Amino acid sequence: MKIPEIYKKKRAEGKPVFSLEVFPPKRKSNRDSIYEAVEILKVTEPDFISVTYGAGGSVADFSTCEIASNIKKEYKIETLAHLTCINSSQEDVKTMIQMLRDAKIENIMALRGDIVPGEDIKREFAHANELAIEIQRKSRGELEIMGACYPEGHYEANSLEEDIQNLKYKIGAGVRVLISQLFFDNYKFCSFLERVREDGIHVPISAGIMPIVKAKQIEKTVQLSGASLPHDFTEMIARYQHEPKALYEAGIEYAVGQCRDLIARGVDGVHIYTMNDPKVAVRVHEGIKDLL
Ligand code: FAD
Repeated sequence: MKIPEIYKKKRAEGKPVFSLEVFPPKRKSNRDSIYEAVEILKVTEPDFISVTYGAGGSVADFSTCEIASNIKKEYKIETLAHLTCINSSQEDVKTMIQMLRDAKIENIMALRGDIVPGEDIKREFAHANELAIEIQRKSRGELEIMGACYPEGHYEANSLEEDIQNLKYKIGAGVRVLISQLFFDNYKFCSFLERVREDGIHVPISAGIMPIVKAKQIEKTVQLSGASLPHDFTEMIARYQHEPKALYEAGIEYAVGQCRDLIARGVDGVHIYTMNDPKVAVRVHEGIKDLL
């Protein structure tokens, strides 16, 4: 099913879209672990599962397509296959699009990918909007395209305003749904929503939520996302950083609280970054399922 249709249907029902993100295991020998995770995650009946492409050091090969296709076939759950472009040639993108179409994938997340300092990159596609245009062209409009957005601004943009102006290029290129970068401060997300709507961006936007359940997750997560940390969050970390069990519970509770508040405010969807830890995602789902 085309994912924009899911948002339309849910909006008509007055419900948020509930989605999950997983990543391909780093080691090929560990490949089946993703299906073990999905086996647990399926109780949450997600509207779709997105599969990252080479993010966070995981393998950027054909595994995204394979995993997305298997989840769709074996578990009858809709999937969204991510694709990055900063290091791809026209030929690479053409091959990937053909492969996704052959695998009957209908939805694709068009991303630029991070620029790693010192790494040699191709730059045949400079931005996600250029990839979105290419996907439209090559798939003759058959693939639905989604994109990323940043409630606190992308780290390369000079300001949130500039980033929102750039976001319009994605929408113009055919991106029909946005998923946000993770954030811990709902106020930041809500004021971002207000600004983009005022700026004429009306596509559905899902809120990206990452439950923090271990102290060692915090530094890396903040460094990668640039998310600001509200007082309630830092207080929780300070209180429980040396008590792993208490931090685990408090982290889930925090994520549930974020989701419940956003749903009460009428958010289009919540997208849980599962970090391939299905038990945490299932617990968050338990805390919000009465609202879904
Ligand atoms: P772009 O939209 O190209 O934006 C990058 C920067 O360029 C921004 O500062 C923007 O303001 C600016 N910009 C955008 N368009 C233009 C333009 N036309 N002209 C001038 N400036 C412009 N990374 C992975 O490697 N694999 C993944 O699977 C993955 N999944 C992600 C999922 C989500 C929901 C999110 C939020 C991020 C994900 N990322 C992933 C990370 C993403 O690749 C990085 O954040 C990357 O730095 C930017 O990607 P983008 O698609 O938003 O880029």
